[in-house]
Amino acid sequence: METKILNDFKQIRKDQQLFFEKLKTEGISSRIDHLKNLKRLINKRESKIIEALSADLGKPSFESYTSEILMVQKELDLFIKNLKSWAAPKRVSGSLLNFPSKDYILYEPYGKVLMISPWNYPFQLALIPLIGAVATGNTVVLKPSESAPHTTKVIAELLSEIFPNNWVQVIEGDAEIAQALLELQWDYIFFTGSTTVGKIIAKSAAIHLTPLTLELGGKSPCIVDGSTNIEKTARRIIFGKFINCGQTCIAPDYILVKQEIKQSLIDALIKEIEKAFGQDSSKSKDYGRIIHQKHFDKLINNLKDQKVVYGGKYDKQNLFFSPTLVVDPPKKSQLYQEEIFGPILSIIGYNNEEEIDDVLTELKNPLAFYVFSKRKKFIRKIIQRYPFGGAVINDSIVHFANPNLPFGGIGQSGMGAYHGKHSFDLFSHSKPIVKRSFWFDLPQRYAPYPKSISTLKWILKKI
Ligand code: NAD
Repeated sequence: METKILNDFKQIRKDQQLFFEKLKTEGISSRIDHLKNLKRLINKRESKIIEALSADLGKPSFESYTSEILMVQKELDLFIKNLKSWAAPKRVSGSLLNFPSKDYILYEPYGKVLMISPWNYPFQLALIPLIGAVATGNTVVLKPSESAPHTTKVIAELLSEIFPNNWVQVIEGDAEIAQALLELQWDYIFFTGSTTVGKIIAKSAAIHLTPLTLELGGKSPCIVDGSTNIEKTARRIIFGKFINCGQTCIAPDYILVKQEIKQSLIDALIKEIEKAFGQDSSKSKDYGRIIHQKHFDKLINNLKDQKVVYGGKYDKQNLFFSPTLVVDPPKKSQLYQEEIFGPILSIIGYNNEEEIDDVLTELKNPLAFYVFSKRKKFIRKIIQRYPFGGAVINDSIVHFANPNLPFGGIGQSGMGAYHGKHSFDLFSHSKPIVKRSFWFDLPQRYAPYPKSISTLKWILKKI
């Protein structure tokens, strides 16, 4: 990377460090005012944001509003309403060992946060973490994805109108720019993207021991057992799978269905696809497009040697890829092993719980986990047995919409979780303080220690 760019980045970081010191003393009312201003500006620019998302991803305006703008607005509302109480020092009960003392926790921002975001929900996946970081009193350098340039431009304009750039700075660029930013020392790194790049980010963070959050991908299963309502199950899976053309980190990746209802489920899935997007989804205004040629080629490659039972149509020039159903992908295939992240849904039949276990043990630690069943015991057992980022019972992807729930992965699908209060906790260092007074001292704690520890043991057992 050119020295000039590196020097520019160093200057930005230095300016942000100075501003961070100021921000600490400014109090939180100013932060709340900035969040209110951001909310107003987003409302004003709604149509520009929708246009940008349509240019980048062919997103239907309904999806852009509900799954991007509204989510950001709800996060802003939550912070505007609660920031003062979340940020107030919290009293905790003291330990009798320290009696008398006043114990409390102070919530302090880390400092300069570096954020790197992806292209699939380019507006909300950049702004929701950013709201948490700035509300908590951090400065942010945000590097959005180069693959959603229209949205990045709108984000950069919005943020520069609300925040001085020594508080929030958007840096446009690709992986090389991200690498240059990662060479510098930050106080926190927040990354959303693929597991492969997540590992690169974690290595860079390790050099400076920078705390980090990784919001990654994975293969999220839908377990459908024989007791479910087939029609509603199909509708809710199709909703979660084909929104944003399957390019959703928590989209159902594959279905594990009880063999005896497999064909009925496939029929119901097809019916629901056609109900949502018609028989020719290329004509539907409610169906998006694939982000770029490279990702498109990966999806075509995914279909090689697969049994396609529905769809499989595409038009590379227009980045159109139809909703596609595949059954029983070979275990060695890319489609089975890797995150699909597109409008291909694979369906695997199972006969018993051992067969479910074989698959879930191999494709472990998904970001999301969906169970469709009316059997309480089965549901309880399966959600307790497997590690995953988050689960929904009898629906898909809707957990993302509740900011009271932490959102994040485990193992390969990430570390750390955010949204609402969880974002506040994530971007704050909890500073524990114990304030003692001088009026009482337990003499036994000081050397020379008592010869026998039996009295001390007796006291310690009582407290
Ligand atoms: P990506 O990992 O290719 O890119 C994400 C960001 O990282 C981009 O800003 C990109 O410029 C940057 N980047 C790419 N290569 C880099 C490198 N070598 N060094 C430093 N930075 C680099 O991911 P993507 O294609 O934008 O998004 C798709 C992936 O993101 C999927 O795996 C999806 O599951 C995951 N994702 C996860 C979440 C979540 O919340 N957990 C949300 C959306 C997407």
